[in-house]
Amino acid sequence: MLTITIIGSGYVGLITGICLAERGHAITVVDIDEKKVRAINAGEPPIYEKGLQELLSKHAGSNLHASTSYASVSDSDVIFIAVGTPPLPDGSADLQYIKSAAEQIGIALQERHVPYPVVVVKSTVPPTTTRDIVVPAVEKSMKDPFGSCMNPEFLREGRAIEDFMHPDRIVIGSCDEEAIAKMKQVYAGFDAPMLVTSSTAAEMIKYAANAMLATRISFSNEIGNVCKKLGIDVYEVMQGVGLDNRIGPAFLNAGVGFGGSCFPKDVSALASLAIAVGIDPILLHSVIKVNDNQPSIMMALLEERVHDLSGKQIAVLGLAFKDNTDDIRESRAIRIIELLREKGARIKCYDPMAMEEVKHLFPPSQEISYMSSAGNALDGADACLVLTEWPEFAELDVEFSRMKTQIIIDGRHILSIPHAEGLCW
Ligand code: NAD
Repeated sequence: MLTITIIGSGYVGLITGICLAERGHAITVVDIDEKKVRAINAGEPPIYEKGLQELLSKHAGSNLHASTSYASVSDSDVIFIAVGTPPLPDGSADLQYIKSAAEQIGIALQERHVPYPVVVVKSTVPPTTTRDIVVPAVEKSMKDPFGSCMNPEFLREGRAIEDFMHPDRIVIGSCDEEAIAKMKQVYAGFDAPMLVTSSTAAEMIKYAANAMLATRISFSNEIGNVCKKLGIDVYEVMQGVGLDNRIGPAFLNAGVGFGGSCFPKDVSALASLAIAVGIDPILLHSVIKVNDNQPSIMMALLEERVHDLSGKQIAVLGLAFKDNTDDIRESRAIRIIELLREKGARIKCYDPMAMEEVKHLFPPSQEISYMSSAGNALDGADACLVLTEWPEFAELDVEFSRMKTQIIIDGRHILSIPHAEGLCW
């Protein structure tokens, strides 16, 4: 059992903390957001993730505590950094939160009670960040030896606990034997291959993995756009493609494009990094361009079916960037709502989890309202757009009879009714 502090208690920090608490370690999660800290200590998840409520009820107040103070760092065997790395206007990663967390860890470690603490970067950071930014920032205040490591996280929101507990692989980026041994203790009992690499390779593995997944989606969307023109079902095509062992079936789902806090920002950050070292990221730019274009393709199809959108009532089903989460960061629904508003449409939205978040961006008004069910959103609608693959949308059937006109465009291949039209199938 190790004593572990995790800096940042967002999706990655809190899930890491709760899963390592479940493995028997003593965890403190630290956040500058007092509201989050209070909620965690009260056993109330600040985000929605399947299974989080149960695990938080079990561990909050026993072997998991939240704090706004870095005090627990001085007693910790391992200190994870899991703060955000949002995009700067030029697409590169903003490392200010990483740097600030590392500096505060250094200050806290002046009082340390553990002989060789290990500082681990779990946030997604550009190659060399751990070595050239994090380690020097800790060393600014702390002169005694400590270990460092880069340990990228591959969890998917909506399935975060399952992914953390049963990862495909664990990447340990360090050349420090003592730090590597400590990380093996952190992950003792996990049934996954462990890959030990340099810290820079570990940093690059995360970006390359996300860029690969995003590329597969944009590739499928481009093939899907061609298929649509030719009257071919791209899902039949991709089933045939994915059965090739060299390719595999995952992430070949055509639709309205990827969103979320990772793919868009990580592909942009990798493209910025490529430019910084003199490489023209032709493929990465195309991946982003195809993705950015999918909402406009959906709007064009809608206009083809409805003609003039002004004053028309459009049901928008799904606001979260994917199912099983309330996260709306970079959700395609936000872009679609903006485009619908530009055209003067009246929008009735429904999402089982994410409506409160979207209300902050688009407060309820004459133009946009938030409904208590998919059926209520469909009531009297001239058309319907499906933007998130919530399983409950697959069950919708008679609810569509409440629409004024049966124009139903599925952007996620989730509907089971025969008269829905696919965005690119
Ligand atoms: P998030 O925005 O949900 O959480 C970050 C947290 O850090 C916030 O609660 C913020 O208040 C806190 N914070 C910021 N500065 C701090 C400081 N100095 N001290 C203490 N707390 C501080 O972010 P996230 O989605 O958990 O992502 C964190 C990192 O993990 C990012 O680099 C992201 O790219 C990466 N990642 C995210 C996912 C995902 O699915 N969300 C998956 C893998 C990797």
